[in-house]
Amino acid sequence: MNKPLLFLIIFLANCLQVSGQVSHPSSQLKHRIDKLSKLGTVLYFAAHPDDENTRLIAWLSGEQHYRTAYLSLTRGDGGQNLIGTEQGIELGLIRTQELLAARKIDKGEQYFSAAYDFGFSKTHQETFKFWQKEEILKEAVFIIRKLQPDVIITRFPPDSRGGHGHHQASAILAQEAFIAAGDPTRFPEQLDDLQPWKAKRLVWNTANFGGMDNTSDDQLQVVLDDYNPLLGVSYGEIAARSRSEHKSQGFGAALTRGRFKEYFQHVAGIEARDSLFDHINTTWSRLPEPTQAVETMINTIKQTYDMERPARSIPALIELHALISELSPHIVYRENKLKEVENLILDCAGIVLESVVTEPNYTLGQSFTVTHKAILRDSTVQSVIKSVNDQEIGRKLQAHQPESITQTETIFKTTQPYWLKKEHSLGKYQVESEQFGLPENPDNPSSLFEIQINELVIRVERPILFQYVHPVKGEVNQPLSISPRLTAKLSAHKALLTDDSPKAIDIEITNHSSDSEAVELSFAKNSAIKVEQSDSVLTIPALSSRSLRFNILSTSSNTSETTRLTPLLNGQPAQGFQKISHAHIPDITWFPPATLDIAEVAITVPIKKVGYIHGAGDLIPTSLRNIGIVVEELPSAHLRNLDLGNYDAIILGVRALNVLPEMRQGFPILLDYVKSGGTLVVQYNVNSGLQIDQLGPHPITLSRERVTEEDAKVVFTDPKDPILNFPNKVSARDFDGWVQERGLYFASDMHPAYRTPLAMADENERPHNGSLLVADYGKGKFVYTSLSFFRQLPAGIPGAYRLFVNLLSKNEEN
Ligand SMILES: [Zn+2]
Repeated sequence: MNKPLLFLIIFLANCLQVSGQVSHPSSQLKHRIDKLSKLGTVLYFAAHPDDENTRLIAWLSGEQHYRTAYLSLTRGDGGQNLIGTEQGIELGLIRTQELLAARKIDKGEQYFSAAYDFGFSKTHQETFKFWQKEEILKEAVFIIRKLQPDVIITRFPPDSRGGHGHHQASAILAQEAFIAAGDPTRFPEQLDDLQPWKAKRLVWNTANFGGMDNTSDDQLQVVLDDYNPLLGVSYGEIAARSRSEHKSQGFGAALTRGRFKEYFQHVAGIEARDSLFDHINTTWSRLPEPTQAVETMINTIKQTYDMERPARSIPALIELHALISELSPHIVYRENKLKEVENLILDCAGIVLESVVTEPNYTLGQSFTVTHKAILRDSTVQSVIKSVNDQEIGRKLQAHQPESITQTETIFKTTQPYWLKKEHSLGKYQVESEQFGLPENPDNPSSLFEIQINELVIRVERPILFQYVHPVKGEVNQPLSISPRLTAKLSAHKALLTDDSPKAIDIEITNHSSDSEAVELSFAKNSAIKVEQSDSVLTIPALSSRSLRFNILSTSSNTSETTRLTPLLNGQPAQGFQKISHAHIPDITWFPPATLDIAEVAITVPIKKVGYIHGAGDLIPTSLRNIGIVVEELPSAHLRNLDLGNYDAIILGVRALNVLPEMRQGFPILLDYVKSGGTLVVQYNVNSGLQIDQLGPHPITLSRERVTEEDAKVVFTDPKDPILNFPNKVSARDFDGWVQERGLYFASDMHPAYRTPLAMADENERPHNGSLLVADYGKGKFVYTSLSFFRQLPAGIPGAYRLFVNLLSKNEEN
C-alpha cells in the first residue's frame, strides 16, 4: 500500500466515532451523493478546543460540500475543568474527545499539533518560548501539504487583538505555514511522501465578540444559508449541538435558526471579492487528468437516485469507483472520493460491519475472542465477506440475515495515546513525524474486512469495541483498551521530606491478566533517597490487586532538588491504569507513569491543625497533610456552630467568596475569629459574582491582572515583614521552580491598613503589588493572596510551602 493511501485510511478510520455502526437515512445518502461533485478543501486554524467557528464548519461541509478540517494547535490541556477534577494531560484527553464528538456533528475533520496548552499567556513571544515555534510550524506545514486546502481560515489576528498569546501565535503560525507549505526548501524531508502546496488564500474570520468588534463593511461578507432539508436541520442548530459538546468548558449553546453573516479579512494569497472560493475551480475539471466521465457518472447517479430504493444506485456507484480508481494515486482527492463512494455503497446496501468484544480491557499479548458481525439489508445486492484480518472467510451474506464470525486476537502494543508515550516538555508533546496531526492513535485495535459488493471488492476498517447492554442506556459501545499486565497506583505522586523521619507510601499493584502473577517490587532512584520495604515479592491472583507499604527517607543533608523514585514491577518501570468516564464522550483509558517526585524542604511548621472551607475546588488540604498538618474541612453553612478557636488558621478554597452564597453570613464570623486572635487566609476570587461586599476587614478591589510568567522576578518591598521571616526566612530562591504562573486576579486597590510585601511583573510590565495582602486585625491576622498556591502546593514546590506556612503562622512576637 502506498504511503498517501495509508495515511488516508488512518485519517478516515479516525473519523469513526465510538457508536454502534449504523446506516443512514436515504435523504442523508442523497446529500452525500451531491457532495461527490465538489472538490474543495478548507482548513480552519486556531489554538484551542472551542476556538473554532462550528457554524462555519457545519455550513462549509454540509452546504458547500467542501472537505473541512479544524486544526487546533493544542488539546486544551490548560484552563479550568467544569465537569471534574481532571487537569493538564487528562483535561487534554477529555477535550480531544469533545472535539471529535463536535466534528461528528458538524461533519468536519479534526487535527492537532503537539503544542501543549501550558495555561494563559499574554503574548505570542511567551507562547513561542514554550511551544518550540519551528517544530509546531513543521507540523502545520505537514498538515497543509497533506490536506492541500484551497482556503485557510484563522480565527484570530496575529497581534494583541487576538487576546491570549496562544491565539496570536496561532495566527502567526498560519501565516508562516501558508508560505512555507509551498516552498520546497522548507522541511524538504516531508517531500518524500507529500508535495509542496500553496493554498489560494489565507483569511481571518473576524467576529464581534466580547465587546470587541473586528468586523467591517470592507471585509468579504458571506451569508450562511439557514436550513438543509435533506439533513432536516439549520446550520445554526448543528453549530449549537456541536459547540455544546465542549462540556468541560461549560459551552452549552442555544439552538439558533435563521441566516447568518460571516466576515473575512484578507490576509495573504489572492484576495476574494465575492466568495471564499473565488477563482478556485471546485469541480472535477480542476484535476490534471481527464475527468469528464467521472462528472457524467456523478450526474447520472444524482439524477437517478431513488430515495426509496437507494441500492439501485449501487451499480453506477461501482462504475464511478472504477473511474476514480484510474486516476493517478498522487491526487489527494482520489483517495478521499474513493472512500466517500465506498461508504455510500455500503450504506445504500444497508450493510453493517462491526467487531465487538465482551471486556473493556485485555492485556499485552493476551488472546481474546472478537466477534465480527455483518448484515446486508437489500436483496438486490450480492455480497460476500471474503476475509477478515487477512484470514480467508468466503461467507456469502443472505439479505436480512445477520452473520457472525469469531476470531482470536492478540495485541502486542498498549493503547496508550501516542502523545503520552514520552514525557512532555513544558510546551510540547514529543511525537514522531508520522503521527503529526493525528487526533488519536492510528493503530488502536481494529479489524480489516475485505468485502465484495456485486463485482467490487473493498477493504473496510472497523474499530474493535467493547459492546454491552446497559439496563437504562441500552446498547453501549466503548473503546477497547490494551493495558500492561501489571499496573501500579501510589498513594501520592509528590512527597515532601521535611525532617529525618520516614514517610510511608502505599503502592497498590493490579494484575489485569487472566493468570495469577508473581511480582517483585524494586525501585529506580538516586542515592539521596533510601527506601525501606518489608516485602518485595508477592503473588497476585488474576484480575486482583494487592497493596504494599514502603517508607522513604532522605540520606542527604538538605538539598532542595526534586528527585524521582520509580517503582519497578519485575524490573519494568510501573505504569498506572487511569480510566476517565464522562457520559458525553467515550471512556478514556491511559497509563500514566507511576512515579513519586520527592522534594526535601527545610521548613519549620508550627501549625498543628487548620480548618479549610471548600471553594471552586483545589488540592490545598491534601498538600498540607503532606507536611504533617491536620486539615479539617469545615461545613461552610454552619460556621456559627463551630468552635473556630480550635484551629491555628482557617483557609478559604479558591473562589470561595464567589461560589458560596452562605459566605454572606459566614464571612463576618470568620472576621470575628480573626479579631479574637485567629489567622484567616483567603485565596483568590474574581470580581464578578462576589457574595459579599467587602473582601476583608478593610476594602480591597480586585482586577483581572495576572502574572503569567512562572519565573517572573519577585521583589520584596519590605524584606523585614514578619510574613517573609517567620517561621521560615523566605528568600528569592523560594520563588524558583514555580509552575504555570505566579498568580491571577490580583488586587488592584487596597486600604492602607494592608501590607503588600511582594511585587512582581511579567516582562515589560509594571510591578504589581496586589498578589499578597496582610493586615493585623484585632488580635489576629488576615491574609488575602492571589498567588497560585493552589497550583504550587500540589506540584510540590518547596518555596511555596515555606511561604504558605508563614501565611498560616502567627507573628513571632505573639
Ligand atoms: Zn482559545
